[in-house]
Amino acid sequence: MKKHQTGQPQVTVLVGPTAVGKGTVMAALRQEHPEISYSVSATTRLPRPGEVDGVHYFFVTRERFKEMVDAGMMLEWAEVHGLNYYGTPREPVEAAIAAGRPVLIEVDLAGARQIRASMPQARHVFLAPPSFEVLVERLTGRGTESEQEQARRLETALTEMAAQDEFDQVIVNDTVDNCVRALAEFMGLD
Ligand code: 5GP
Repeated sequence: MKKHQTGQPQVTVLVGPTAVGKGTVMAALRQEHPEISYSVSATTRLPRPGEVDGVHYFFVTRERFKEMVDAGMMLEWAEVHGLNYYGTPREPVEAAIAAGRPVLIEVDLAGARQIRASMPQARHVFLAPPSFEVLVERLTGRGTESEQEQARRLETALTEMAAQDEFDQVIVNDTVDNCVRALAEFMGLD
């Protein structure tokens, strides 16, 4: 595992397959560590019930997303699951780094690779399910995606899980508490 360089503000990149429980883990981490700055991504997908613009995502049109990319406003961006665009607005991340706050950025594999190239000080963590079967159960159980969309997401998940070696650390989401503890430790917060 690569070591965090001391004295540098910590940027943590989190990748995890669909339905692995990133939302739940991040909500718990947020409770315990309010000092973390969470990057709010822009996306062209529609909000799910309960999702709030500017909190969970910035929900934008494809035209607006392209404008943001063309204006150099994205730290990274990707077409995720071959369907919608997702990207990390650059400015809030840079502001958090300048303020010395730990930053957590959740992206897909393509986004993580872009950040690895442009921001070598970032450290990368992969959130893995206990098994692929658990992932299938969680995804079908939450029922927020159509069957076609579920299949597409599971295909992406297989690709992501095959790339775990690229990461500085793999954390298995067995329980939320364990996961939060491991993530906080990885970010040097405990
Ligand atoms: P969801 O539609 O379930 O909210 O997110 C789907 C996937 O999009 C996430 O699992 C994550 O891999 C990816 N994603 C979310 N935000 C970003 C982002 O800012 N950039 C990139 N490249 N991927 C993202």
